[in-house]
Amino acid sequence: MKYNCDLISDLLPLYKDDICSEASKKIVEEHLTECPACKKIFADMSDVTIDEKIVKEKNEVIKTQAKLFKRKSVFAGSIIALIFSIPILVCLIVNLATGHGLTWFFIVLAGILVAASLIIVPLMVPENKMFTTMASFTASVLLLLGIICIYTRGSWFLVAASSTLFGLTMLFAPFIVYRRPVNDYVKKYKGLAIMCAYTITFVFMMFCIGLFVGLKAFAPMAFAIAMPLVGMGWAIFAIVRYLRFNACAKTGLCITAVGILSGVLSQLANMSAAATSNTGVSYSTSSLPLMLSIGGVGILIAGIGFLYGMFKGGKKNVNK
Ligand SMILES: [Zn+2]
Repeated sequence: MKYNCDLISDLLPLYKDDICSEASKKIVEEHLTECPACKKIFADMSDVTIDEKIVKEKNEVIKTQAKLFKRKSVFAGSIIALIFSIPILVCLIVNLATGHGLTWFFIVLAGILVAASLIIVPLMVPENKMFTTMASFTASVLLLLGIICIYTRGSWFLVAASSTLFGLTMLFAPFIVYRRPVNDYVKKYKGLAIMCAYTITFVFMMFCIGLFVGLKAFAPMAFAIAMPLVGMGWAIFAIVRYLRFNACAKTGLCITAVGILSGVLSQLANMSAAATSNTGVSYSTSSLPLMLSIGGVGILIAGIGFLYGMFKGGKKNVNK
C-alpha cells in the first residue's frame, strides 16, 4: 500500500461528502480496493447516513401523528360543543315559552360556558392551551357571577368578582408564569410577577369589599391589618429569593421581618381600633414586646448564620 491508513481515514469524510480533489479521490479509491480495514471504516460511515435517514423518517412520523391527533381533538371538541348546545337550546325554548322573555336562561348559558371553558377550550385551541383555558375559565366564572347578580338584583358583584379573581390568581399564577405566552414576557422574573399579581388582585379585592361595606369605616382598619401582612409576604419573598446568604441567615432574617412587621401590625391595628371606636381608650400594646423579642431571636439566628458563613468562607479560602 502506497499510503498509510491514518492518512486515508483523514481523507475519508471528505471523500464521502465528495469535496476532495480528484487526486485525493483517486488515492482513496485505490486504497479502499486493497485495504479491508479502511473499507470497513468507509462502510460504517455510510451507515451513519442511514441512521440520519431513520431519524428524519421518525420525525416525520411524529409530525404526522401530531397533526392527526390535533385534528381528532378538534373533532372531539366540536362534538362536545354540539352536545353542550342541546341543553342550551332546550332552556332557551322553555324560558321563552314559560316566562316573559329571557331570564334564567342566561344563568344556564353562563354555567355551561364555565364547563365548556374547561372541556372544549383545551381541545380546540392550537397553542397556549393552559393560558387560554385558565383565562377563559376565569372570564366565564366572572360572567356567571355577573348574570346571577343581575338576576337576583344584588349589589355584591364586585365583592364576589374581585374575591374570585384573587382566589383564581393564587391558584393559577404559579402555573401560568411557566407557560407561553406569559413566560415569554416574565422570563427570569417569574417570582416577582407572581408576587405582583397577588398584591394587585389582593388590593383590588380589599378596595371592592371597602366599596361594598363603606370605604370610610372599612379602609383604615382593613389596610392597617392587611398592609403589614402584604409587607411580610414581600419581605420573606425578597429575603429568600434575592439575598445571597446561607439558609440559616435567611431563616433568621425572615423571623426578624415577621417579628418587626407583626409588631407594626398590632400597633397599627390598635391605633385604628382606637380611632374608629367612640370610647377611644381601649388599646393595649401588650403584644409589642413579644413581637420585638421574636425579632430579636431572628437577629440571633441570622447572626449565627452569618458567622457560620464567614467561618466556612474563610476556611475555603485557606484551602485554595
Ligand atoms: Zn487502510
